[in-house]
Amino acid sequence: MELQDNIREAARILSGAKNIVGFTGAGTSAESGIPPFRGEGGIWNQYDPNSLDIDYYYRHTKDSWKIIREVFYNFFSNNAIQPNPGHRVLAKWEQEGRLSCVITQNIDDLHTVAGNKTVYEFHGNMSRFVCTKCGRKVDAKRLKLTEEPPHCEHCGGLMKPDFIFFGEGIPEDAYYGSVKAAEKCDAFVIIGTSGQVSPANMIPGIAKRNGAKIIEINMEPSTYTNYITDVYLQGKSGEILPKIDALMEQA
Ligand code: NAD
Repeated sequence: MELQDNIREAARILSGAKNIVGFTGAGTSAESGIPPFRGEGGIWNQYDPNSLDIDYYYRHTKDSWKIIREVFYNFFSNNAIQPNPGHRVLAKWEQEGRLSCVITQNIDDLHTVAGNKTVYEFHGNMSRFVCTKCGRKVDAKRLKLTEEPPHCEHCGGLMKPDFIFFGEGIPEDAYYGSVKAAEKCDAFVIIGTSGQVSPANMIPGIAKRNGAKIIEINMEPSTYTNYITDVYLQGKSGEILPKIDALMEQA
């Protein structure tokens, strides 16, 4: 089928759905100017991923912090980075009562900035810091991110960005919230994720086993495309999601 036919089919399924769930990865934010971690132009081609290992952060805090600050807070936190039309469609669908939540592997906060209220942050969120000693969370904007790693103003403990480092577990509320949402939905939209990162990549299969229709948007086929995807839309999510939405408006 042609892309346009598939867009029509996706719009038909989503118009009739009672409970849509969005499942997003790095590709969803690519059009906002955030590069992927892997592949061409990926961050790990320039930096050593070990700097994001939790043990390395404790043992070589200063070295690790230097890279984290440069990658995530000098570059990613640039105000020019804003939600793109794909993020905005997901927020609109939630406001219209069609979409129950977004499950995201992204740490960039862009779904929340776009207006989504129920966002399961599978890998955490860089816009917050957490104290490794007392667990207090602080908005990153409230901290002075200097060359020295930030410390907690309550207990003096070392703080870290509130996203998952290598060697850390998935936040329980995000994990169980995602599983439940995948079990209950009738349409599940996979957007801009290669499906290589575990255990996040197990969530779409849960939706499929529970009878949801699987719609996928990606620039290239992923690990899901030939296995669980019902409607595959090849292209940029910032272009395809608005096209689906426009057809749903007409339905
Ligand atoms: P990935 O890098 O493994 O895969 C990205 C996928 O997006 C690819 O399949 C690619 O074909 C597709 N893609 C690229 N541009 C696209 C576009 N405009 N529209 C639609 N699809 C597009 O990403 P992943 O599966 O999310 O896994 C990477 C891990 O790295 C995640 O766990 C995530 O936490 C993290 N990460 C997050 C960010 C972010 O927060 N924005 C950025 C990079 C990496």
